[in-house]
This record gives sequence, structure tokens and C-alpha cells, in this order.
Amino acid sequence: MSYDDSYYARTRTEADVRPPLVGELETEVCVVGGGLAGLNTALGLAEKGIKTVLIEAARVGFGASGRNGGFVGCGYSQDMGVLEQRLGLDHARGLHDLTRDALATIRSRIERHAIDCGPNVSGTLVASWTDNPDGLRRHAEDAHEKYGVTLDFVARERLVEDYASSPRYFDGLYKAESFQFHPLNYCLGIARAAEAAGLKIFEHTPLVSLEIEQAEKQIETPRGLIRARHIVLACGGYGPGVLPEVSSAVLPVATYVMATAPMNDNVLGTAIRKPICIADTRGAGDYYRALPDGRVIWGGRMTVRNSKPPRLAHDMLGDLLKVYPQLEGHAAVETSWMGTMSYARHRMPQIGRLREGVWYAQAFGGSGMGTTTVAGDLLATAIADGDDRYRLFEPFGLTWAGGPFGRLAAQAIYWSYQAQDWATARRDFNKRRISTTLEQGS
Ligand SMILES: Cc1cc2nc3c(=O)[nH]c(=O)nc-3n(C[C@H](O)[C@H](O)[C@H](O)COP(=O)(O)OP(=O)(O)OC[C@H]3O[C@@H](n4cnc5c(N)ncnc54)[C@H](O)[C@@H]3O)c2cc1C
Repeated sequence: MSYDDSYYARTRTEADVRPPLVGELETEVCVVGGGLAGLNTALGLAEKGIKTVLIEAARVGFGASGRNGGFVGCGYSQDMGVLEQRLGLDHARGLHDLTRDALATIRSRIERHAIDCGPNVSGTLVASWTDNPDGLRRHAEDAHEKYGVTLDFVARERLVEDYASSPRYFDGLYKAESFQFHPLNYCLGIARAAEAAGLKIFEHTPLVSLEIEQAEKQIETPRGLIRARHIVLACGGYGPGVLPEVSSAVLPVATYVMATAPMNDNVLGTAIRKPICIADTRGAGDYYRALPDGRVIWGGRMTVRNSKPPRLAHDMLGDLLKVYPQLEGHAAVETSWMGTMSYARHRMPQIGRLREGVWYAQAFGGSGMGTTTVAGDLLATAIADGDDRYRLFEPFGLTWAGGPFGRLAAQAIYWSYQAQDWATARRDFNKRRISTTLEQGS
């Protein structure tokens, strides 16, 4: 199975296919899954001199890791306020700090291993879809006080002038420390770096069955067998469920991205003013970034269905034009694709140990670039050095995700977000229209 068609697959820096496993081998650690959870763990282990093998059912970065929005930021899918209430501020801060360190790790890996995954422009704007400047200011103060995060308030006039000229947006918050990358090229660069440190990768090698009762685990693939002291399961939302205790704890949730054809700078500049990451405040919002060649990578929507909708390109273009009507007649879709995330009911990553020698890293939701780096670091140091920092994630165990009922519930939650978003946006949009009309009439 090769990569699904996407802008990233078309522009990847490497095309070499690694051969599948044929025959038997022994190793210290076997990592299952060549997304960023698996790759980061394998890189960490290889750098520590631990003999490690990674098997991937398709290609390195085939799953969510190689086809996402390319936003690299800190935090989790779960809101920090919810984490504070549940765990207390110190624990929540400890979790947040891990993701800040992860951003520094990603930057240093890009540099150290010369990973060609640009543009790596810094900065994210979160544009408010509702009229709530006081709420934004309070949020910024809270983030600074509790987590040391700097969020600059951007008033609507400046937002339109300097960042994003959309009739939909009110004020926004700008965060300088996050950045962006080409996710598939980053995955390929991490894989190369890990191989240079001694990792062996087998592509087109799915795990088909497992024997984990003994100290020596047996990992069976279609044409091979691996004996290992440790196994790390990192299959994201793509796993067929070889170990039900682990796979039934996540819900696969699909989301979509499109890439437009390049647009002329003069045209695109009337809408998106800066090539930074831009998202909005809706529960079910858009996220996008303009590339140096005038393309726009645009993501949004969520569903529990597992096939690409036939009108996806049309619908995604409609989403873009709703935000930037001035691009009508200029923006055209070049490619559109879907990807599958894995979510736990508690919306936090599941990083931990099931039993002696059996580890898991999954459920990174829609915020996986920093958090899979955290998982890689925690699991590699746990296995190699006995470090127990992974226990920070103990409150977020392998809770059953609800099977088909969970999928229905997730879809219902998404629809309720959409309905709420629609109602508040309509209210504030109309409020603004009325006040503009009054101002013009006065
Ligand atoms: C469209 C989209 C946009 C997103 N945008 C962003 C974003 O902008 N920023 C951000 O931080 N996060 C984003 N995310 C989330 C992020 O991509 C994920 O959280 C993260 O990549 C998950 O990594 P993973 O390694 O757990 O899973 P994956 O990357 O999905 O990797 C799992 C791998 O396991 C392999 N596998 C499955 N079963 C087996 C088996 N039996 N044997 C061997 N291999 C197996 C699969 O083939 C796959 O390659 C987005 C996700 C999607 C889908």
C-alpha cells in the first residue's frame, strides 16, 4: 500500500520503499506503527543504543502523522482548564511543560538532522468567530499566569489589516512560539535519523498476531516473526485491533484537508496576510496556512465515517469561501484527502505500560505533533533507563471508548459543536451587521 494522494505525498523528499520483514529476528524492542508516536519512540531508543526494530503496515508516515495540517504547537486535545480541575494545577502544569519541551526538541531535531520539512514559519493566530474580547483577554492572562505562555491580544482592526481579512472574524490571539512543518517530510527525516542511529524499519509489515504472556514477546507478521523483550504499540486510529485491551480504548475519528492550486500573491494577500498557522475558536472550526508558492493548506470537519466523501473538494472549498469570499473565482482545489485520528473518551493521550514489556502510545487526537514527541521521550527513557515520568499519564488509562456507541456519541458531539458554533456566530455576525448599519447611518 502506498501513500494516499495528498499534497504532502506529492511533494515528499524521499521515495525509497523499505523492504518488508521476511524471516525471523531477535531484538530488544519492537515498535509497531510508523507514525510519529512510533518513530519518536524508536528514535529515542536507537539514540540510547537499544537494539530496536519498527514495523509499519504501510509506509512511514502513512497515517495521520504524514497527512495532517502541519501545525506544531503545545498543549493537548483536552482543555487545560479541565485538566486543572481534575488533576490540580501542578500536575496540569507538568503535563503542559512536557509539550513545550517537545516543541524545542522538534526544532532541534529539524536542525540537527537537517530535515527538509519547511516552511517552518513561526506563529499561530486563533481568530475568534464570536464577539468576546474580554473572554480572549482573560484566557491570555490565565495562560500566562498559570503556564507562562504568551498570547498577544489582536484587536479586529489589526487582525484584518495584518493577519486575516475575513468578515467572519472578530478579535484574536497570537502565539509566537508555535510553528509549522511539512509533516510527511518530517516523519521521513525522523525515520532516517533513527536508522542512522541503528534502527531497522520494515514497511508493508503489519503486526498480525501477538504472544505477550512470556518475558520474550512474539510478534507475528505475514512473512516473519520477531522475538523481543519489549513491544510498543503505536497504531493510532489505523490499528485493526490485535490487542483489544489497547485498541478498544480509542475511537478512530476522520478529518479532512485540502490543498488549493497556487494563487497569485496579490489575490491571496487580500485574504491571508501572513503565512502563519491560522485557526478559529469554534468547537468544529477551520485551520489553515498559506505556503510560499501561493497554495493554501486548509483543514476542517470531523466525522466517524471511514470513507472519503465524494464531494469533499467542493465542500472544503465552500468552507474556505465562507471565510474569504474575496477568493471566489481564484481558489481551486488541487488535492483533498482524509486522515484518521485516534481519540480516547478523556481526550488525552494514552501513554503507558499494560504489563511487563508491553507499552502503548495512542489517542493523540488533533494535537499530535508535540504530544507524540512527548510519548517518544517518555517511553524511550522508561524502557532504556527505567524512568517513570510516563506515570504522569496514569490518570488517562485505557478506558473503553464505547465501540459503535462511542462512534455515534462522538458524531453527536461534533454535530452539537457545529450547531452551537452556528448559533453564536449568527448572533454575533448579525449584531455586527446591525451596528455597522447604524454607524453608517449616523
Ligand atoms: C487530517 C488531520 C489533520 C491534523 N492536523 C494536525 C495538526 O495540524 N497538528 C497536530 O499537532 N496534529 C494534527 N493532527 C493529529 C496528528 O496527526 C495525530 O495525532 C498524530 O499524527 C498521531 O500519530 P500516531 O503515530 O499516533 O498515529 P499515525 O500517524 O496514524 O500512525 C499510526 C501508524 O500505525 C500503522 N499501523 C496500524 N496498524 C498497524 C499494524 N497492525 N502493524 C503495523 N503498523 C500498523 C499505520 O499504518 C500508521 O502508519 C491531525 C490529524 C489528521 C488526521
